[in-house]
Formats: sequence, C-alpha cells, structure tokens
Amino acid sequence: MSELRLNLITREWVVIASERAARPDQFTHKEKVELPEEYAENCPFCPGHETSTPDEVLRYPEKGDWEIRVVPNKFSSLSRTAIKHRNNDGRHHSVAGYGHHEVVIESSKHNLFLAHQPLSAIETLIQTYKTRFLAIYADPAIEHVAIFKNHGEDAGTSLEHPHSQIIGTPITPIQIRDRLDAGRDYFDDTGECLMCATLDDELSAGTRVIFETDLFVAFIPYAALSPFHTWIFPKRHAACFGEITDEEGIELALHLKTVLAKLFVGLDNPAFNFVIRSESPSAATSEYFHWYISIVPRLTRTAGFELGSGMYINTAIPEDSADFLRNVNEEDET
Ligand SMILES: [Zn+2]
Ligand SMILES: [Zn+2]
Repeated sequence: MSELRLNLITREWVVIASERAARPDQFTHKEKVELPEEYAENCPFCPGHETSTPDEVLRYPEKGDWEIRVVPNKFSSLSRTAIKHRNNDGRHHSVAGYGHHEVVIESSKHNLFLAHQPLSAIETLIQTYKTRFLAIYADPAIEHVAIFKNHGEDAGTSLEHPHSQIIGTPITPIQIRDRLDAGRDYFDDTGECLMCATLDDELSAGTRVIFETDLFVAFIPYAALSPFHTWIFPKRHAACFGEITDEEGIELALHLKTVLAKLFVGLDNPAFNFVIRSESPSAATSEYFHWYISIVPRLTRTAGFELGSGMYINTAIPEDSADFLRNVNEEDET
C-alpha cells in the first residue's frame, strides 16, 4: 500500500507510491550518454570566448589561465540599473525588476562536470560561491540570494559547459518563506532547530544516509519529493551559508563530489538541479533555520496531480534509493 509522508521542513505531503515503485536501477538512462569534448567552438564559456560574456566580476586565479570566472548573466531578467521601487495599486503589487544575476563558470574545460573535478577545484568553487553570496547581500536592496545549478536539458539548461548561477532578488521567495515559517513554528513548539532534530533522526535511523563525515551528512529525506532527492546538511547548527568555515568548505566539496559522482555512475549522468537554501547574513544567528543543499535529479516529470493537489508523487522509496546510492562505487566510471 502507498503511504503519504509529510516533509516537515518544506511542509509538503508526498505520496510514496510503493505499489508503482520502480527499482532504483530502473531510473538509469537506457542508453549510455555521450560526453562532450573538452572544448566547443560555439560555447560562450570556453576559453578564448571571454568577450562573449559581460565583463567578469571575479576570476580565479586572477592572473594567467583562469579556472573559474563569475560574469553577470547576459540574459538576466533582473537589472542592476533599475531603481528598487515598490508599487501597490489596489490588489496589484509590484517591485521594479532590480536584482543581481551572475553565472559561475565552474571550469575552463567544457566537459569537466562537477562530479569529476578535483576536490581542490570544488573547494575553490565553494569559496567563490561564498564570496559572491556575501558580496550580493552587501547590497541593501537585496532581500534574498539563491545559489543554484542546472545540469542537463531536463533541468532547464541548454548550455553544456559546467556552470552555476547566483540570483539576488529584492523580495524573499515563497519557498524560503515557507521553510522559515516551518522552522519558526517548530522552534516555538519545541525550542529546537527542526533541521538539527531531523539530522539526529536520520543519523540514528541510518537507513536514508548516503554519506557521512565529521561535519556533514548527505541523506535522502524521509518524505523525499522525487526519486533520489538528496539533502546535504552541515552538522554544526548555522543559519547562513556565508558562515561556512574553510574546514567545512573542504568537507562540503567532498560531499558534493561524492553525491554527484554516485548519481553520475549509478544513474548514468542524470539531469539535476541543486540549490543552497540559506538565511541572510543579517539573520546568521537564527536558532530556527539551518542552511543546507538540496539536490534534485530530474528523473520524472511533475504533472496535473502535483499541480492540482500541491502534493508530490515519488515512485522511488527513499530508503531503497539511499541504499542504492550508498552501494554505488563513485570511482567506477566504466
Ligand atoms: Zn564550453
Ligand atoms: Zn540546526
């Protein structure tokens, strides 16, 4: 029989469709995916094409051949030149389209996916995220900064070259407000951080844990919204990603690489999104929110059921998915 599970952190109900459930390996691509070449002539992010992007805001290393570049998004829907202005006209509420939208080019190589980057390069990427996250929050007109990545067409990108994005908006999006509200309500009721309590639950159950180190845990949530939906939580309570220490950055790089490599090997390079969910630096001392990374492989499509009910159907059982990923040898590329 199927089971409805409540995701306490997102406040969403999920139907874990055990009768329709597929075996974990049934989500693997049926045909082997061809990887691109190291350089693509028509790619705006490949070295030698730097003039195809707006002037960079950050380059690493600063001199010589670059490994990471951060550039404003050429096709941003938010503008730095707009004046932040709120307009309430009856039931029509709007804010001018002010904001920051940056692209992080993660590697000079067109085909070097994050899962295959050396750990030191992923560590540098995390430090780059932190630098730009704090820099954008320093703009007083910005209410929220989201760091995210789209990999593969089903995840919403047509650009193959490894890249992620950072968006600073003049409002707080509903997904963040919902999570903040859930954390605040739980804290009111119990005096505890909901995410710290969830981590304790996951570590004592162990059945949904994929990978654990001293400072981080990667696991499939009890009420995962979709197959192989994975969360990476820091063990130390911290509301804001901008507070990540160098030591935590090193371990987070290992977690990102491990989980993405397990997905790459186990499911044969699936499309995925990831997003860093975080409070702002001004709320870094919050006791009721805890930053984390959510990785969502795009293996199934949402349809009318999700749209009509606001509930999700997950055709993979979270415990089975975690067991499958735990047992994937991420170093096995053949
Ligand atoms: Zn490229
Ligand atoms: Zn916490």
